[in-house]
Amino acid sequence: MFALSFGSDLNHWFLQHQREMPWRKTKDPYKIWVSEVMLQQTQVDTVIPYYLRFCERFPTIEALARAELEEVLALWKGLGYYRRAENLHKGVKKIVRELHGRFPTSLKEIAQIPGIGDYTAGAILSIAFNQPVAAVDGNVMRIMARQFAIDEDIGSTKSKRLFERLVLEHMEGEPSVYNQALMELGALICTPRSPKCSECPVQSTCKAYAQGNTEAYPVKARKEKPVEEVYTALVLKRGEAYYLEKRPENGLLANLWGFPLLDESLYERLCALGQPLNPVRHVFTHKRWRLLPVVVEYTGKNEERLRAILNIEPVKFFAMDDIQRLPIGTAFLKIISQIDR
Ligand code: SF4
Repeated sequence: MFALSFGSDLNHWFLQHQREMPWRKTKDPYKIWVSEVMLQQTQVDTVIPYYLRFCERFPTIEALARAELEEVLALWKGLGYYRRAENLHKGVKKIVRELHGRFPTSLKEIAQIPGIGDYTAGAILSIAFNQPVAAVDGNVMRIMARQFAIDEDIGSTKSKRLFERLVLEHMEGEPSVYNQALMELGALICTPRSPKCSECPVQSTCKAYAQGNTEAYPVKARKEKPVEEVYTALVLKRGEAYYLEKRPENGLLANLWGFPLLDESLYERLCALGQPLNPVRHVFTHKRWRLLPVVVEYTGKNEERLRAILNIEPVKFFAMDDIQRLPIGTAFLKIISQIDR
């Protein structure tokens, strides 16, 4: 193929090779927003059924704004990173309240919407409204760092601006096609490890390929290891029901339901009263949890001993059917999968 330029070669490839995805069939900014939010930290195959269910239940900004947060979180259950759903919900409410439900069409207005960062704003404006705006995420930085052999740390704001500039400088054709082509190239060809350079439509312009060191890019400064926190997770059981509590409004897994997390030092004492389960690990962005779950029967016999350990008055016990309907953090779902067998 005759190499025209980075932008036009990329677009040409995308129009022939793009994968079918439900959100690629719409220009509705709300639905593109939903898909972009779900796709953060989550694989396409996982997202598709969630996206379809979500858009069926909440087909418009107004429909989502009318819903209770609890229902939104329940529909999000299993996707993780629930803060995304909360912000989406806050965002649509703001659009209904302040813009009469009209999705904003400028970067300045979009920046006011909770949870929409530079990347999501760029993706929505370019895909839904075909505006020439860059949408730069880790995938796009990787491609551009390799194409132009940029050895700046991709974590810095300065290099993010540099990548945005490069994306715009090389933008050709429809912004909607070009930005999606970059995303698709990063997902299918210019992958973090072992990029498929022999199949790459922009190999002829790629400096890292010419240098023979594609995996030297992008350059990332070493990140600090996430701190590990260890908790005893109390799985309190009364008959066939389990005690769950709603987590605080702030902090990890905010507003979701889960088992009480107690100090690690109580593990032995609780094991003496009940049955330990397999430990569960869960990784957040800056933290790691190791949960040591123990199932304890809440009976008259050990009520007093439990009261001496716990600082709670357990009142809300849920049957397994009801638990399935609650918005529950993924860390706790890993425990539930051990008791619901
Ligand atoms: S040639 Fe290789 S490293 Fe360069 S953009 Fe294509 S896949 Fe990425």
